[in-house]
Amino acid sequence: MSSISDFKGKSARAIVEMALEKAREHESFHALLSLDEKRALERADLVDAGKLKGRLAGVPFIAKDNFLTLESTTTAASHFLENFTAPLQATAIEKLEAEGAICIGKANLDAFAHGGSTENSAFGPTKNAHDDTRVAGGSSGGSAVAVALDIVPFALGTDTGGSIRQPASFNGVIGVKPTYGTVSRYGVVAMASSTDTIGVLAGNVDDAELVMDILSGRDSKDMTTLPDFFKPIVQLDAPKKIGVIKEFMTDDVDAGVREQVTGYIEKLKAQGHTIEEVSLPMLKYALAIYYIVVPAEISSNLGRYDGIRYGERSKDAKTLSEVYGLSRDAGFMPENKRRIMIGSYVLSSGFFDAYYLKAQKARTLLINEFNELFNTYDALIGPVAPTPAFKLGENTADPVKMYLADIMTVPASLAGLPAISVPAGLTDTGLPVGVQLIGPRTSDATLLAIAKGVSA
Ligand code: GLN
Repeated sequence: MSSISDFKGKSARAIVEMALEKAREHESFHALLSLDEKRALERADLVDAGKLKGRLAGVPFIAKDNFLTLESTTTAASHFLENFTAPLQATAIEKLEAEGAICIGKANLDAFAHGGSTENSAFGPTKNAHDDTRVAGGSSGGSAVAVALDIVPFALGTDTGGSIRQPASFNGVIGVKPTYGTVSRYGVVAMASSTDTIGVLAGNVDDAELVMDILSGRDSKDMTTLPDFFKPIVQLDAPKKIGVIKEFMTDDVDAGVREQVTGYIEKLKAQGHTIEEVSLPMLKYALAIYYIVVPAEISSNLGRYDGIRYGERSKDAKTLSEVYGLSRDAGFMPENKRRIMIGSYVLSSGFFDAYYLKAQKARTLLINEFNELFNTYDALIGPVAPTPAFKLGENTADPVKMYLADIMTVPASLAGLPAISVPAGLTDTGLPVGVQLIGPRTSDATLLAIAKGVSA
């Protein structure tokens, strides 16, 4: 995979043309939903003319298709937004463009980012970069595959419960899910507002760090953003104390995954870090909490897609209620509908206390357990997912099986913690395995520095 520094001093037009060519060459993986050739080449010419400068001048990237971009469509991989062209750009895109970066296209995802395989896209799945009979992971599957295939050195993704980390792990690239509030979500299609984060997928740690440095910071258009705390760390001042989450290393976890994660832990030890086993008993409730809180927020956030305010209106609708009903039926994918139903149910007056409120209380207990561990440990480690990339179609008939596969990524999301996915190696069958580092809030740069030490 190329790194951002490889592009220094080269013609931006030549770089962008090459990226577009690679995108076409790898079309069969279906990583991308659209290419924005015209705008990309125009911006490349501005760079070459010296009119556009910055730390990413002429560097091509791809954005998950739930980031609003000018001129190209923003579909969220749904029929609802199939023809939607945004009137504004996401702050994240604006920040990258201000540094001279060039968005060449939009990546495939599970519709509205609901899923973990990119098979819920209304436009068909993305295939894994290492084995095209397997899933890309998701929901930022297209972004991960575009980086793994070396179409671009980095891509933007969103992570609500693992959607950057898990596809990064499945395709052997770095994935950064920052502390909740690090990057503005303005202009990004909302999934679950209390866990939605924006982050980066990249071929190496240095590039991920540079892009995070550019993306992070306060935005008056997103009240949840934090003042800019992200400062790249060249080298750690002292070895760290890292806890291995024992619940993530049981016999239920794929042996190849455990082997690679254990190998990575050995490398951390060789770097001088202290490694100890830790336990998070509340983990057994994490999925139950996530699959109550997140659908609740989804059902509320998706209310705006009604064929009037947003989304394609059904042509068959004759009454107002048919406008809502038929438009939403045609616009949403089955997984979107499932979550709207679960969310509406757990928020309904009869069940609010029993489900939603209870889940929020349990969430606080999980957060407390994490905080307690961070009194002693600088970071926690474990796999990103219990298995490597599974076969296309293997889990589609069983939504609960799909949800269970999120067990390792949802805890950090519920607690708003930074978590990164770093390639640990390949299984005997040649599939990438990612290791996950989770830290206390705002320790994002430390996590990247730990990973940098291993790859150096
Ligand atoms: N796989 C998880 C889910 O389906 C995570 C999705 C995400 O982070 N967008 O909810």
